[in-house]
This record gives sequence, structure tokens and C-alpha cells, in this order.
Amino acid sequence: MKNCGYCGRENDEAVFYCRECATPFQSDSVTPRLDPTVASAEKQMISGALWCVGGLFVTIYTFVSAVNSPVGGVYIVTWGAIVFGARQYFRGWHAKYLFQKRNQQSVATGK
Ligand SMILES: [Zn+2]
Repeated sequence: MKNCGYCGRENDEAVFYCRECATPFQSDSVTPRLDPTVASAEKQMISGALWCVGGLFVTIYTFVSAVNSPVGGVYIVTWGAIVFGARQYFRGWHAKYLFQKRNQQSVATGK
């Protein structure tokens, strides 16, 4: 919990604005600010994972209904979504990895 500097109301650690008076909390000590590079890389990973899972889901779903159908049927293999999603995910992962590596190096060399 953290207290609002303006009205003194207790707020959750996760909130950025006081729920009582909407005074923004300073991000210096309480909330470590996420680097925009890491944040966008993680966003890319999430959207990539969603594309990939969504593509897999459509593929499996249409495959199962085609197999279960007495007359047979076509099923859609959504390679596009799966490949695009996987590539997006690894790009995000790689960007995050590179950033963390660079960060570690700058810490190791000192300031
Ligand atoms: Zn407040």
C-alpha cells in the first residue's frame, strides 16, 4: 500500500493515480518504471503468442471437425498466423534479450 501525498488516502501499489483525488503517484521509488524498449518487446511477444495460439486453435478446431465429419471435410491450416505469430514472438523475445544483455554489461562496466 502507498499513501497519496495530497489527500493521504491508501492506494494499491499497482495504481498510478490516487483513487480518491486522482493525484498521480511519483514513480521514483515505489513503481520501478519499465523501459519502453522492454515494454514494447513484451507487447510484441504477447501479440505474437496470441496470433500463434489463435492460428493453432483454428487449425486444430477445423481439423477435428473435418475428422469427425462423416462426409469428410477440409480443414484450414493457418500457417500464416502461426508463422507470423511465432516470428513476432521471437522478435520481441530477442529485443528484450538484447536489451537485458546490454543493461547487464553497462552494470558490469560500472555506471
Ligand atoms: Zn489522493
